[in-house]
Amino acid sequence: MPNSVTDELVSANHRYAEDFTDPGMNARPVRGVAIVACMDARLDLHAALGLELGDCHTIRNAGGVVTDDIIRSLTISQRALGTRSVVLIHHTNCGLEQLTEGFRDELENEVGQKPSWAVESFTDVDRDVRQSMARVRTSPFLLHTDDVRGFVFDVTSGLLREIAASEGQG
Ligand SMILES: [Zn+2]
Repeated sequence: MPNSVTDELVSANHRYAEDFTDPGMNARPVRGVAIVACMDARLDLHAALGLELGDCHTIRNAGGVVTDDIIRSLTISQRALGTRSVVLIHHTNCGLEQLTEGFRDELENEVGQKPSWAVESFTDVDRDVRQSMARVRTSPFLLHTDDVRGFVFDVTSGLLREIAASEGQG
């Protein structure tokens, strides 16, 4: 039986552990930042942002949209683990642009149950970043909402483009 991808990952882990030494860190991110990003496979956050092991929290989901569960992680990140800054990263050519909220109806037709979650699909990525920034800034659970910045990562150039918090600011 050929190796499954998971078997390949486990083998890779054994090689990784051979050279691994205990970095002696605690769980608090060294640079005090939480990054919320899309799960997209083309987005290597550590390489793209010059991050090292232990520097940050990375919180990812489909779209990098700020859902209740993202707020849950950010709340723990700030209140229990000392982060103060939030960076939101969406990207060009996102899979969520191909979906609509009709996806929920399709699911309901197929399985007889409508999901409790929104698809959070979007067509205007800049607007979606702005909405995510607003959700973070207005969350009552977070301690620090003064340093919240949002970006769109271009999957063809590797560059980030910053999105102003409100439309018209640039
Ligand atoms: Zn995406």
